[in-house]
Parts: sequence; C-alpha cells; structure tokens
Amino acid sequence: MTAYIGLGANMGNPLDQLQQAIDACSALPSTAITQLSGVYQSPPMGPQDQPDFYNACAALETHLTAHQLLTELQGIERTMGRIKRRHWGERCIDLDLLLYGELVHDCATLTLPHPGLKDRDFVLMPLLDLLEGSVSIGGFGSLDTLIGQCTASTCVKLPHRLLSPLNDLGQRHV
Ligand code: ADP
Ligand code: MG
Repeated sequence: MTAYIGLGANMGNPLDQLQQAIDACSALPSTAITQLSGVYQSPPMGPQDQPDFYNACAALETHLTAHQLLTELQGIERTMGRIKRRHWGERCIDLDLLLYGELVHDCATLTLPHPGLKDRDFVLMPLLDLLEGSVSIGGFGSLDTLIGQCTASTCVKLPHRLLSPLNDLGQRHV
C-alpha cells in the first residue's frame, strides 16, 4: 500500500529532527520510503509565541495496516522525545498519517484522510511535490483545488533537502 505521511518540527534543530524521523521511518518493518518532498517553513498555526514550523511529506510503500503504521509513527515520536505541551504547540517532531491508499476511515484514534490536510498549505504544498495536482484527496477535491482554497499562504519552500533514507548497509542512496 502507498501511504503519505506529514512531518513537522519547530523545536531544537528542526531540520535534523525531520531527517532523524525519515531515517526512523525507513527502518520500520515492511516499509520503504519511496519519495521525499522539499522542506517548507511557515509561521505557527496555533499559539504565536513559538518558533516557525518546518514541514515535509514522504511517500511510503508499506505492508503495515493503517493502524499499525500510525502506532509505529507514534513510537518514533515517543523515541524522539515528543512531549505534548499544549494544543497546536511546539514539538520536536510530529508525524501524521495523511493518506493510506484511498482509505476513508474515522474512528477514535485514526481519521483518514487526515482531517487537517485539506486546509493546511504547509501539508498540501509538500504533498504537491509528490502527487499530481489533479489527484483527488478522499472526497475533499483535487490537490490543486484545495491549495487554491487556502487563504494567504505564508509557507515558503527552503533550499534545504532531506537526504534519502539509509539502506541496510548504513549508506544513503540517491
Ligand atoms: P496534531 O497532529 O493534530 O497536532 P497529535 O499529533 O497530538 O495532534 O495527534 C492527536 C491524535 O490524533 C492522536 O492521538 C491520533 O490518534 C489522532 N489521529 C487521528 N487521525 C490521525 C492521523 N491520520 N494521523 C495522525 N494522528 C491521527
Ligand atoms: Mg500529529
């Protein structure tokens, strides 16, 4: 199954943490990272007295179920020391499951597509690095349409690129 994840960070060294999270995702069982977006910077969505956010997206090929993948992503957040301080507050890493194939799902622990996806330019812009703009996002409309509906985008693409994940030999492949 192809899944898309969203990564975000705004504490410590956000670029390093995005890279660490990518490396951790590539080490998940039955999972490979197939595409990486650029890195985007944007002002915080919640409380304004916190640093800018750095966001990126990745495409994964996985044999894990959506719930298993979410649990693994939450495990990586915990390992990386994520502590929930306040709603929409600062975090050293946030890993969200944006899309899991075409699955539409809503239960107490998992909503797919991710409910915040459709109106967050800092998620839609990196996703557009990986998907055609004409792709429909789980009944919300096409990626292009959703981006068009985002008001006053303040999300900037950085020159920085995340490195491809480590392979079994600890080397990075292009
Ligand atoms: P946010 O990412 O909105 O700031 P959190 O990362 O703290 O919030 O996640 C809050 C809860 O959202 C988690 O406990 C998780 O069960 C739930 N959740 C529901 N759907 C998803 C999804 N698609 N991806 C990630 N978390 C999800
Ligand atoms: Mg989250």
